[in-house]
Amino acid sequence: MELLSQNCPLCGSPQVKPHDRYETQNGTRTIYHCFECDTYFSETFATPIAGLRTPLSRIIEILKARSEGMGLNAVVRTFNVSKKTVIDWEERLGGLKPVLMLYALLDQFLQLVIEGDELYTKVNKNVPPELSEGWTIVLMDRASRFLWELHCGQKEQQLFEQAIKVLVQVIEQTQDLSLFTDGERRYGNLLFEICHELVRDGKPGRPPKRLPKGIRVRLKNKGAKKRVGRPRKKYQAPVPEHPQTNSEVPEHEIHANQIEGLNASMRRRNSAFRRRANTYAKSRQHLQRTLDVFWVVHNFVRVHLTTKVVPAVKLGIMETGLSWSGLFSIRYAL
Ligand SMILES: [Zn+2]
Repeated sequence: MELLSQNCPLCGSPQVKPHDRYETQNGTRTIYHCFECDTYFSETFATPIAGLRTPLSRIIEILKARSEGMGLNAVVRTFNVSKKTVIDWEERLGGLKPVLMLYALLDQFLQLVIEGDELYTKVNKNVPPELSEGWTIVLMDRASRFLWELHCGQKEQQLFEQAIKVLVQVIEQTQDLSLFTDGERRYGNLLFEICHELVRDGKPGRPPKRLPKGIRVRLKNKGAKKRVGRPRKKYQAPVPEHPQTNSEVPEHEIHANQIEGLNASMRRRNSAFRRRANTYAKSRQHLQRTLDVFWVVHNFVRVHLTTKVVPAVKLGIMETGLSWSGLFSIRYAL
């Protein structure tokens, strides 16, 4: 699978030759002909800029400003562009998330340490946090800062289930994986529910359930939390692990500190996490749109401040990061 492949988008054949060129306000574009299935297609077919008239350089300039933290209204005023247009471009860019995720999951990983945490911002009306849709679940690879999951909604079972389903896909590609979270027990419990194995131990009765081999979950209980009953240990393995999993994890490694760093970056770069008005994001859908753009740009384009490498490169799934114009030439389906 090539992200920037020029193969036929319909049959996948490499038997593709330039056929004709045409002028747009954006410059010259090429029409290709596929000899295999005899179709003709434009170079922008099924890409985020298909059918757009605005010059790509302007789209990039504006979306870059947005992804450096400029608010929607500020962008509208500064660049003299309509809100609807900016939203449309952002939806097109964020729409690349599934295909980029698919691309990332083609790789095999030897060892990953994933941090899990929930970030919070206000959505629409001021409601108590437990009713708010402004919770964002983050699953981040510690070494590369690659974001596997960045999804918002109400802090309820469904949001955690969705994140764990993503994690299960990552686990299928990984030999040895640790999930470290702060406090929240649902990650471990749901993971156990969804992907346990029965481990036969030769004893009579039903074989016990365990996490798959090589998978470990650790959580750090927040000390301040007052709860009734037996006090919890500060560091815990909340669900049973496979007997062949190396279960030794130094306590100082059990934290979600890199996500704390991400939180700071999110507040700088995503205005929905920052504005000091009562309404930060208009709705869950609007917030998710900005998160999808953040996911794409953070993982594949932007050089990380600390690691000095684009997360996808550090993770080992590509040799160089994508450029903005490269992003816009990726097709939604490969
Ligand atoms: Zn074809």
